[in-house]
Amino acid sequence: MLLTSELSVNYTSRKTSRKTNAIINLSALVSNYKHIAKLAPQSKTIAVIKANAYGHGAIKVAEALSQHAPALAVAFIDEALILRDAGINLPILILEGALDPEDVAIALKQNFWLMLHNTEQVDWLVNLSKKQALSYSGKLWLKVDTGMNRLGIMPNDVDSILAKLSNIQLQSLVLCTHFSNANELNNPKTLAQIKQFESINKNYLCKKSLANSAGIINWPESHGDYNRLGLALYGASPVPTINLPIKLDPVMTLQSTVIALRKLTVGESVGYGELWQAKRPSLIATIAIGYADGYPRNAKAGTPVFIKGRLVPIVGRVSMDMTTIDVTDIEQVKLGDLVELWGDNLSVEVVAKHMGSINYELLTRVSARVPKQYISR
Ligand SMILES: *Cc1c(COP(=O)(O)O)cnc(C)c1O
Repeated sequence: MLLTSELSVNYTSRKTSRKTNAIINLSALVSNYKHIAKLAPQSKTIAVIKANAYGHGAIKVAEALSQHAPALAVAFIDEALILRDAGINLPILILEGALDPEDVAIALKQNFWLMLHNTEQVDWLVNLSKKQALSYSGKLWLKVDTGMNRLGIMPNDVDSILAKLSNIQLQSLVLCTHFSNANELNNPKTLAQIKQFESINKNYLCKKSLANSAGIINWPESHGDYNRLGLALYGASPVPTINLPIKLDPVMTLQSTVIALRKLTVGESVGYGELWQAKRPSLIATIAIGYADGYPRNAKAGTPVFIKGRLVPIVGRVSMDMTTIDVTDIEQVKLGDLVELWGDNLSVEVVAKHMGSINYELLTRVSARVPKQYISR
């Protein structure tokens, strides 16, 4: 007699049949890092790998950059602990600082660099230093608000906070701020923020950090002792691509395959809500990626995808697991053909425009069920 267990497939070790995946090109990542770091040769370039490295996989990205970046940055402590558990020993800057007093203790132990942005966080640190002799080999960052009005202490409070911190033995203090409009080349706000920042720091002469990707690329006067490089590291542009002083290579290529084909006559519709109707005899391909994979449902009809060397539009509603595309003009489309949603042949910026979104959001929203395949070439 045959037991059912003998028939069963070992699903965990089985290779997936689903061809939808995100290909992550680690050579492109490293080359982007080096090119952008060269734009600011006087600065140390911190690699920002929050939100699972903008959807690219934080551990793999951290490993690939470990020989190049002096430090990494994430949003909160849990993101940093995942990296430590994976054996990443670089200093890690925590951009939201400590969210409770316990975070402060963890940060001291793990060589995380805390970015303090309010008086409560400063008090947690000062109180801890009263209870135990602090040996903090890490760097402390103090964020000052120069007009983003989201995080940061007010310029008038810098004096009293630095006085409080003067009781703690510190390796160094980095004064930092964050830009609200650095992606806009003609907006004077960034220069106003830089000016205000410099007028504060001239009294203290701390080490300084202002620039994100757009700051590094657009505003050389914002380069500090440390810059904080996020988006551009992944080959996505924070500014109109025509203005880029360097070539960025996309790190992620999101792809899927054709799993069904339909011939439609004039007037027949596709998908939920009959959102799209054929105006000509049409060939429609169903591809195996949907909003549960992070391909947004608000993609408008006409959003391009890349198949067999050509761009074609999506038609109808994006559904949970699938999307439909018009391949009438493409010859000999067949099941299994690869379709690129964004990547080497179609920039994520272009795709994002059709969705009323931005490259940051599309990259970070690629969901956990999309397998990542890491390549170097
Ligand atoms: C996310 C973040 C960055 C990186 O910004 P990019 O625009 O992706 O380069 C830098 N600084 C802070 C404080 C951030 O939160």
